[in-house]
Parts: sequence; structure tokens; C-alpha cells
Amino acid sequence: MKKRILIVGGGIAGTSLACFLDEKQFDITIAERFAEWKPIGYVVGLWQNGIRVLEKYDIYSELRNKGVIAQYQDTLDEKGNVLKKVSFEKLNQEFGATIHFFHRADLHKALMNKAQNKVTLKLNTFLENLIFEQKSVRVLFNTNESIEYDLVVGADGIHSSVRSFISPQNSLFTYPSTFFSFLAEVPENIRGSIEMFGVGSFFGIYPYDDKKVGIYCSLHNKTAQTISKWNELPNFEKIRTAFQYYQGLVPTILKQLNENTPIFQDSVREVEFSPWFCGNAICIGDAAHALLPTTGQGVAAAIQDAYHLANLLNKNVGSHHFEKIFSDFENMRTKHLTPIRKSSRFVNKLIVNPYALVCVMRNFAAKHVKFYDTENKIRSFFQATQID
Ligand SMILES: Cc1cc2nc3c(=O)[nH]c(=O)nc-3n(C[C@H](O)[C@H](O)[C@H](O)COP(=O)(O)OP(=O)(O)OC[C@H]3O[C@@H](n4cnc5c(N)ncnc54)[C@H](O)[C@@H]3O)c2cc1C
Repeated sequence: MKKRILIVGGGIAGTSLACFLDEKQFDITIAERFAEWKPIGYVVGLWQNGIRVLEKYDIYSELRNKGVIAQYQDTLDEKGNVLKKVSFEKLNQEFGATIHFFHRADLHKALMNKAQNKVTLKLNTFLENLIFEQKSVRVLFNTNESIEYDLVVGADGIHSSVRSFISPQNSLFTYPSTFFSFLAEVPENIRGSIEMFGVGSFFGIYPYDDKKVGIYCSLHNKTAQTISKWNELPNFEKIRTAFQYYQGLVPTILKQLNENTPIFQDSVREVEFSPWFCGNAICIGDAAHALLPTTGQGVAAAIQDAYHLANLLNKNVGSHHFEKIFSDFENMRTKHLTPIRKSSRFVNKLIVNPYALVCVMRNFAAKHVKFYDTENKIRSFFQATQID
């Protein structure tokens, strides 16, 4: 008999898991809180460790011609002076793409196309309760249905409800900075990322197509509070005021902002807890380990989680108790994610540092000190995250 698996959250991790599970062995249901399983989002950069999994399942072919494969990563100060330039030319030749920028909606659509015929979808649906039985999990939905599943996977993002049933610990940590994300037009064709460091602020420009770029910018709360009537300003005014001293492409981008610009805004947060599972329920993706946005690894990590968990489940479908499988999965993923998490915390402290002196030292170091060979560091990371 097929095992009944409920995936809570039809985002990147949940839809990827549905793609990779063996449908001959699993009856797959996805419960999504939104009324439509609709691609939404912002521009994301997917690194080679995520692309590789999509290639294996022939999902990347739908994305290859979308967005832009980055050719370089430039780091500038707020005046537009170059601090550091990294070319991806050699890495792109070696791996096909080092980092590919596209809209999250395009990725989600490609995953949905692959998964849609193998899943039962429950839209407008979320959990009211989760009861751990000996060999199963009973789920009470907002629709008043109560259904028993052999397995439940929480892929419901950074504010996961499944996580709150698995672990009573506080696992969502909020940092004293805010970020904004939106699309803008630029007069020139941008083929790589441009990241600008100010005092207590950061402005990232990422390629999307020949005309448009995705913006991710952030601001330390201390710096924000120096701006008059900050809390009363609408988001577009907040961005225009906070980044008015930036140069390069920024003034052209700021001019386009108005009250109708769709802007995604939130506090910078991360998730850390252990274990990621209880009984026959487990969390994956942001629900298990949301990383700071500075890593740019959230999407690749969600896809890799789905790949490794699906592999373990496909091979061990006869089990009734999944704790050993879940524990092996968490250990393997933590080994990969811990160094990424550490470096993201370090980078986060530097990029939105509110102290001018620290920022002068940061910029000097970025320009003159060779910390490591970036190209080789990326190459080793890709090798360490190889899949079978
Ligand atoms: C502005 C921005 C820019 C980013 N840029 C990048 C980038 O460049 N590179 C990168 O790698 N990562 C980036 N990320 C992070 C990346 O988007 C996430 O790490 C990734 O989407 C995690 O996938 P997930 O499936 O775990 O969660 P999500 O993609 O958030 O999916 C969660 C799903 O669960 C659903 N859901 C939530 N709660 C419930 C509930 N209670 N019941 C049912 N369903 C529920 C949601 O509707 C959603 O469909 C960015 C994030 C943001 C916000």
C-alpha cells in the first residue's frame, strides 16, 4: 500500500519534494494556505548546487532561457567606487552557470508543471492541530477535516506552523534590520550583480532581463531611526530617503519608486532549532533552517533538502518509524548548512553595520585585503554539495 504523505506549503521546498518523491510509493497531498497555487515572489539567484538538482530532473530546461546567468559580482561603496570585482567567466565555463538570476515565479512554475499530475492539492488550507500517533500523524485542518497521514513534511516557510508543533523552542530570530525588494528598470544591460555598501545600509542590484533588475536593499534599525518620521513613511519614501546619498545606478532606480510600486518588505530573520522532526513529522527548507538573506542560498538549500529527503524516503518507504531517516537527513544537511550560516552571520554584521568607522575599515579591507580566493572557494563549495 502507498504511504500517505502530507506536504504543508506548496512553495519551493514543498513543490520540489513532490517532484522528487516516487509516486508509485507515495500518495502525495500538498496543503497550501493560499486560495491559488500561484507563482509569486521576487528575483532570486539560484547557485549551481541548486541548479544541479533541477538538471537531474529535467526541470532546469524550462528556466535556462529565463533571467540572466551572472557573469560577475561587483562590490562598490555607496559613491560607486569599486571595492572588489569577481568574474564568473571560468566558473561558468566549468559548471554551465555559477549563479542564475530569475523570478521566483518562473522557478515555482517549472516545479509546479512537474509536480501537478502527481499531487492532490488542498488550497485555502492550513493546520489547526497535529497529533503524533505511534506510526502516523493525525492532522486537523481549518476546514474541520481530520485526516491521518503516515508522514507530514512542514515546507511552510519561515513562519512555519508545523515547526510550532514539532518544537516548543523559540526558533525564529529577528535581526535589527529591515529589507525591501522590488523590480526596477535600468538604462544599461546588467549581466552580473552589483552590491553597494553604505553606513548601516546595503543596496544590491541583480540582473533580471535586458531592461529590468531585482533590487534587494537593507537598512540597520539604528540608521533608520536617524531618519525623520521613519515609522510614518510609506515604504517607497523610506527607500528613497535612506538611499538618497547612493550614487551609480541608484538615483535612476529611486526615481521610479512611487506609491504604486510593489515592494516586499520584512525584518531580516533566520530560523535555528533542533531536532527538525518529531514522530513522523519533519520540517524542511526555510521552516527548518531559514538562512540570512546575505547567503543567497535559501532556494538552493530548499531544493537540496527536498532532493536528499526524497531520496531517503524513496529508499526506505517500508519503514513505519521515520526518526532514524529524519535524523540522518538532518545531520547531513546541517553539515552543509553550518558553514553557510556562520559566514552569512559574519557578512550580515558587516554589510549593514551602523558604525561609520567599522564601515571605513570594512571598505578598506574589501579593497585591499585578499581574504581568500573567491573563485576557488565557490568551486570547493560546489564540490562539497555534489549530489549522486
Ligand atoms: C526578497 C527576498 C529575496 C530573496 N532572494 C533570494 C535569492 O536571491 N537567493 C536565494 O537562494 N534565496 C532568496 N530568498 C530566500 C528564498 O526565497 C527562500 O529561502 C525560499 O523560498 C525557501 O523556500 P521554502 O519552500 O522553504 O519557503 P517558501 O518559498 O516561503 O514557501 C512556503 C510556502 O508555504 C506556504 N505556507 C506558509 N504558511 C503556511 C501554512 N500555515 N499552511 C499552509 N501553507 C503555508 C506559503 O504560502 C508558501 O507557498 C529571498 C527571500 C526574499 C524574501
